[in-house]
Amino acid sequence: MINYNKMIFELSNEGRVGYSLPRSSFNNYNIDDLNDNLKRKSELLLPEVSELDVLRHFTNISNKNFGVENGFYPLGSCTMKYNPKINEEMASNKAFRNLHPLQPISTVQGALEVYYNLQKYLSEISGLYEFSLNPFAGAHGELVGLMVIKAYHQDRGDFKRNKIIIPDSAHGTNPASTVVCGMEVIEIKSNDKGRVDLESLKAVLSDDIAGMMLTNPNTLGIFENDICEITKLVHDAGGLMYYDGANLNALLGKVRPGDMGFDVMHINLHKTFSTPHGGGGPGSGPVGVTEILSKYLPNPRVKKLDDYFYVENSGEALGQISAYFGNYLVALRAYTYIRTLGKENLKMVGRYATLNANYISKALKTAYDLPIPGYCMHEVVFNGLNNKDTDVKTLDIAKRLLDYGMHAPTIYFPLLFPQAIMIEPTETETKETIDEFINVMHKIAIEAKEHPEILKQAPTKTPIRRTDEVFAAKMMIFSYKDYLEYINNRG
Ligand SMILES: *Cc1c(COP(=O)(O)O)cnc(C)c1O
Repeated sequence: MINYNKMIFELSNEGRVGYSLPRSSFNNYNIDDLNDNLKRKSELLLPEVSELDVLRHFTNISNKNFGVENGFYPLGSCTMKYNPKINEEMASNKAFRNLHPLQPISTVQGALEVYYNLQKYLSEISGLYEFSLNPFAGAHGELVGLMVIKAYHQDRGDFKRNKIIIPDSAHGTNPASTVVCGMEVIEIKSNDKGRVDLESLKAVLSDDIAGMMLTNPNTLGIFENDICEITKLVHDAGGLMYYDGANLNALLGKVRPGDMGFDVMHINLHKTFSTPHGGGGPGSGPVGVTEILSKYLPNPRVKKLDDYFYVENSGEALGQISAYFGNYLVALRAYTYIRTLGKENLKMVGRYATLNANYISKALKTAYDLPIPGYCMHEVVFNGLNNKDTDVKTLDIAKRLLDYGMHAPTIYFPLLFPQAIMIEPTETETKETIDEFINVMHKIAIEAKEHPEILKQAPTKTPIRRTDEVFAAKMMIFSYKDYLEYINNRG
């Protein structure tokens, strides 16, 4: 049996060649002309393997992975919807792929048009005046948005406002971004309906509040009915409202953050707008603001005069927060997605996403503990099994799902419920797939009662069983060199 668990370096055999390089276009270039400080001091450590071995190695690795294209992936808060192939086709088009960020503006008019139009689409979708596509991720967008809020207050000479109110149901990046921005977090409690508690909010409002960060529907998948009152309270106290729009799926085409009274927001293109994510790959977290705040948006900005697109670097801007324009090809994918669906179909996204989550909520509440009854938005949160006599935990349920060929939902988040299971089916799944998931979840509930040991041992069908997550997080091995060191030290 050939061992396909080997690292590619371990397959290396001196002198074996698996590549053929194209003829260099720098034929007249002499390596001796290079400055010494630009040359390698040691040999480049590369595996020497045949083309077939490379293919087998990576094909086998990819088979161990699980993605949206392998099976159902209801990871709550992550919006693992299908990424249409036409997006990839556009992003791999040479006309876009081979662009250089320093090319003369007159030669990239088409690329700038896409960029400019996407800014405008996001404004129309969210009800905010202007967008910057520069931030690289949701959390990066949060930081930029908070920097805008800070700049707004400090520009008015108001240096006291240094606190950001964040509900306890918020995504962990909200308090993290606040701290990175040099501001202080004020946490407020949710009420028993999973919503912002207005009395707790009023109690913390004062003249040192810079603003409030909120997701709506919130991280429990619940719509904040009091949103207009909340934004009014914060505005009256002199603060600004930040909308965490990482996930806009539930609202798409129905409700706009700008109309709810928000001043600043970010959107994750790599969630709602169907660009691939996971594994730390390229993302995009555009930031949108009201007209008053638009002068603070970072440089460079893409603008339009008559039919000409140009790049502006403004002195009033925050400065630059990314290399060049951000992740252009991610923006291009999102633009393709919006154009492919069109206005009418885009409006259906939120409806189907919400319908699917509610369908699951209703079908599973006989077996799973639904702590917040009633309608949810695009995702639903359970708190473990209804049967509290078993010692089967949410972790065991999640692991068992893997044996059934489905990705686990988000677990132990949000932190409000000790056995939280957060399911987000998205709109791109068929009724058959969702029914199968419901079926499997009911099977697992029965197993929990009759054969809990199966769940405690799960997963048994995955390439590895239960990992030591703390060890994996503390002892990250990124390179073959680190791996060798680890193996040698282990003895
Ligand atoms: C995913 C998510 C974020 C963070 O986005 P990243 O691109 O991973 O930085 C922030 N807030 C919410 C509500 C999210 O779901």
